[in-house]
Amino acid sequence: MPKNWVIGFPRIGEQRELKKALESYWSGDIKVEELLNVASMLKKRHWNYQKKASISYISSNDFSLYDNMLDMSVTLGAIPKRFQDINNSLERYFAMARGDKKRVAMSMTKWLNTNYHYIVPELSKNDSYKLNISKIKEEYFEAKNEGINTKINLVGIVTYIAFAKAVDFEDKFDVFDKLLSVYEELIKEISTFDNEVIVQFDEPLFAKDITPKELSLLKIAYSKLSNISKNVKIAVATYFEHSCEAVKVLCHTDIWALGLDFVYGKKNQEILEDIKKSNKTLIAGVIDGRNVWVSNIDEKIELLRYISSIVSKEKLIVSTSCSLLHVPFTLKYEKKLNKDIKEWLSFAVEKLDELSITAKIYFEGENSLNEKEKEFLAKNRRAVHFRAISDKIHNDVVKQRIKSVKSFDRDLPFEKRIKLQKEVLNLPVLPTTTIGSFPQTTTLRRVRREYKNQIISKEEYNKFIKNYIDECISFQEEIELDVLVHGEPERNDMVEYFGELLEGFAFSTNGWVQSYGSRCVKPPLLYGNVSREAPMTVEWIKYAQSKTQKVVKGMLTGPVTILNWSFVRDDQPKSITAKEIALAIADEIDDLQKAGIKIIQVDEAAFKEGYPLRSSKIKEYEKWAVESFKISTSVAKAKTQIHTHMCYSDFNDIIQTIEDMDADVITIETSRSGNRLLKVFKEVGYQKEIGPGVYDIHSPRIPSVDEIKEQISKLLEVLPKKQLWINPDCGLKTRKWEEVKPSLKNMVEAVKSFR
Ligand code: GLN
Ligand code: ZN
Repeated sequence: MPKNWVIGFPRIGEQRELKKALESYWSGDIKVEELLNVASMLKKRHWNYQKKASISYISSNDFSLYDNMLDMSVTLGAIPKRFQDINNSLERYFAMARGDKKRVAMSMTKWLNTNYHYIVPELSKNDSYKLNISKIKEEYFEAKNEGINTKINLVGIVTYIAFAKAVDFEDKFDVFDKLLSVYEELIKEISTFDNEVIVQFDEPLFAKDITPKELSLLKIAYSKLSNISKNVKIAVATYFEHSCEAVKVLCHTDIWALGLDFVYGKKNQEILEDIKKSNKTLIAGVIDGRNVWVSNIDEKIELLRYISSIVSKEKLIVSTSCSLLHVPFTLKYEKKLNKDIKEWLSFAVEKLDELSITAKIYFEGENSLNEKEKEFLAKNRRAVHFRAISDKIHNDVVKQRIKSVKSFDRDLPFEKRIKLQKEVLNLPVLPTTTIGSFPQTTTLRRVRREYKNQIISKEEYNKFIKNYIDECISFQEEIELDVLVHGEPERNDMVEYFGELLEGFAFSTNGWVQSYGSRCVKPPLLYGNVSREAPMTVEWIKYAQSKTQKVVKGMLTGPVTILNWSFVRDDQPKSITAKEIALAIADEIDDLQKAGIKIIQVDEAAFKEGYPLRSSKIKEYEKWAVESFKISTSVAKAKTQIHTHMCYSDFNDIIQTIEDMDADVITIETSRSGNRLLKVFKEVGYQKEIGPGVYDIHSPRIPSVDEIKEQISKLLEVLPKKQLWINPDCGLKTRKWEEVKPSLKNMVEAVKSFR
């Protein structure tokens, strides 16, 4: 029997049914019964997709109304105090996720290096935990009713604690013993479900660099949990990197199986001997669960054969590298994609077939395939072959250009540049500016959509956008901001906008991926060599500049961010793709400065997101990421001022890298995190100019003049006046004009007293 395993399946629904139901429920348009009906319809549909694809190990409890980590908190009874008085469990669940009138939501953070955000558990020293097994049990039997015996997905205890925050004590792991007894009880309960139940504990913490303490707790936890009941077989899964250290430890416990990622954790190949000796079952993740391209099935078979040259075939299960949560649902609704490119793609549903056919060939040989499967394999081989030779992804001009990039330093060092820039710009001390976007109104969104769908003409569209720019400029002049922006009305999204204008990108119509809760993103598909056909922003920026005597800042998205927020090609290193994008952005910068634009901002909102999980790989990432940024910005003349913006504040680990990017001015988010974090700029003697956001744009609150003054005073304690810019902490597009106008007015007012 070919054995195959899916780590987890997406749940938002192939047409975002869950998103829609959740949002209707939250706004009071549908009743709870209707929401739960949609949920159970989706669970059934997803189980049946997997059953139909002959998946042998299908999960339950991978479904969630909001987030699996939050589900785990509920299962363990880790409910923060402020929510404990809410009696209705669903109401409490959503209050924890989203907050309510009286209570702030629990915080949210990125799930390792993905764009999925989980709800951070809050641990308090006085917590008493209590098992709540209802969701797990219900889902297990719901599937059983469909004729499917599922494995049960749970977040493992060490990862759960490591990814939580302790609110009132030092060492998070102090709660380990208390929580472990709840996990024990959980296994006991699960053992009553059936004669044999498989539990998959996700422990992706161990794909990162880990501490001896975490390893020792891993040992304690799984030695215990694997010996609770003969009925329960335990698999521990990690993904996104290798986890050789953890494997060594787990091999000495009585768990049944190990799930490892052989796509993003090649080093896992080095630990196969240990697995063999331990006689454990190996769930080998070979089908890429994080990217969208068709698998090269022949290559996967080869990899599996290599693995089973060490670990015996009887002990092997073929698997996805991670949960399919991170890829879109299905290609079935993609009617507009280019036919060739569509052939190269494989989303979650299509990956099920890839997995199952790969496993079948591996276990039973190609001859065992039926007609339909043979056809699938032939199609797969064709796609792999034509993708490799397609002229769509082999643009020699771009390739040549990449090779010819040798130097990427600005003409002069910063100290000299800044003098020239000061002469050109002639700005007051503590210059004021914004991060780029102004409110995106519903009318604006409608007009963009109507233009895209050819309901309104180009002339009408241009007129509307120009009007918006006029309003932005006159407002900024009126309140006396120093460096103005055009407001980005032509952009739907900071990456999609550029992707649509660059060669090498394709866009799905339905390729949604859950980002958090009901929110989904639709990342561009970066399939080929990237190049720029024509200027992308120059006309708009030039127009804005023509409307004012003040300086208008050109606004671009940086190469690393464009890369990190797209599905990127897997047939060449990311470093090369990043450089291709960098050259396209360089062309744009050059055109902007030729058009008389004196300041250009290159946003790198997702720079930090791309950091590898293992520190041994960080240097390499930083090298090409910085190089790419510099390739785009080094075309700027010494007198052209380059700004960059990053949406986070914790720079401690990366300050040197930020410095190496050599931007003249960096605007960052600090308003929510306090100036403690800014000290690092002082400590390392950071010379360049900085605009640490003086107020939080993520909240509808309007900051008062006094508040901003106080914030500026605090900044001046750690940074010299001549280095400082004054600005909000991120773009204003999600805010309303009623909030933006008074806030910015107050900001400009506050600065005056410091000049
Ligand atoms: N320039 C962009 C804006 O203002 C930056 C967005 C971001 O940092 N996320 O919207
Ligand atoms: Zn930002």
